[in-house]
Amino acid sequence: MENKGRKMIPIAGPWITQKEVDYVADAAANAWYENANIYNERFERAFAKYIGVKYAVSLPSCTSAIHLALLYYKIGPGDEVIVPDITWIATAAPISYVGATPVFVDIDPKTWCISPESIEARVTRRTKAIIPVDLYGNIPDMDAIYDIASRYNLVIIEDAAEAIGSEYKGRKAGSLGDIGVFSFHGTKTLTTGEGGMLVTNDENAYKRVLFLRDHGRAPGEKMFWNTEVAYKYKMSSLQAALGLAQLERIEELVAKKRLIFSWYKEELKDFEGISLNYEGSDVKNTYWMVTAIIDPSFGITKEKLIYLLREHGIDSRPFFYPLSSLPPYEHLDQAKVARELNKVSYQISPYGINLPSALNLTREQVKFVCDTLKKILLSK
Ligand SMILES: *Cc1c(COP(=O)(O)O)cnc(C)c1O
Repeated sequence: MENKGRKMIPIAGPWITQKEVDYVADAAANAWYENANIYNERFERAFAKYIGVKYAVSLPSCTSAIHLALLYYKIGPGDEVIVPDITWIATAAPISYVGATPVFVDIDPKTWCISPESIEARVTRRTKAIIPVDLYGNIPDMDAIYDIASRYNLVIIEDAAEAIGSEYKGRKAGSLGDIGVFSFHGTKTLTTGEGGMLVTNDENAYKRVLFLRDHGRAPGEKMFWNTEVAYKYKMSSLQAALGLAQLERIEELVAKKRLIFSWYKEELKDFEGISLNYEGSDVKNTYWMVTAIIDPSFGITKEKLIYLLREHGIDSRPFFYPLSSLPPYEHLDQAKVARELNKVSYQISPYGINLPSALNLTREQVKFVCDTLKKILLSK
């Protein structure tokens, strides 16, 4: 197979059926007046049930969900929040919104998720929370993280943006912390275009989040009587309708992600020098992004490889750069420490790429990607 003259093989993208189109059309026609909120309510109820938690709040993004979680715990100036050095910046940016300090810690070489040993080494008197990230659909060693959190009295905000449907010891991603957060950005496994969800079993958190996301008023309170300056973080009913339709198809979406990964695994199984996403015995990984770490002995960096794949019509993405290496954080003392200590993050990141993982991929396209990747590496 050649890919000349065709569209790029996409890195990520959704699987939309007539069901989604019908639900959104129905919301556009009918989700007004006394029904303005019905799709949000149905989506939230179904989502909480799927994750196995009491409460879910639909939001405009995962970033806003993390922001609200930090506000609920009154985290602010002088406080420290531990995050993995390897993640999307959205995990850490809200820590700056509230004036607290992000502490970037190392990842585990196998799971690529936050390393419990690295967390413990960086806890101080000022540490208030840990935000473990379910990176690329994997889940970190949560038992070890609970143990640290309980010994130092820290809250856990689980960033499950990339891991809807993943499981740890039979429990769903997002239900593993005090608060869990999800993203429904267009690249994510379940999408509403843009959107997010906050989930929790903590009734006080649920109530406070409802208040904070609607300009400081609780549902049912005296009208136009705001009691605090807060935020406007709501999801539209059109997005909620799309999300509900996607959620009703979640088993199918997750199964396709796992199928795509199995195709890559099959195609690359006899090729030495490429490591793919790991799935430990306690975890069901939903492989949001199929990710390859290329042995440094090939002498090819991720940027070069991305460029060469693009020449063959294949879209790919770099493994996240350590946050501590990015311009906004570069000069923080915490980032200097991170650059010294986070050996695994700095060893792996230059040689990792995300391969096409869009939900519309075919077996033939995956074979073409793998054949091209092998050809490029063997010609080095
Ligand atoms: C996508 C993503 C987010 C942010 O989601 P938004 O909905 O774009 O705010 C946060 N954390 C991780 C790990 C992500 O991959």
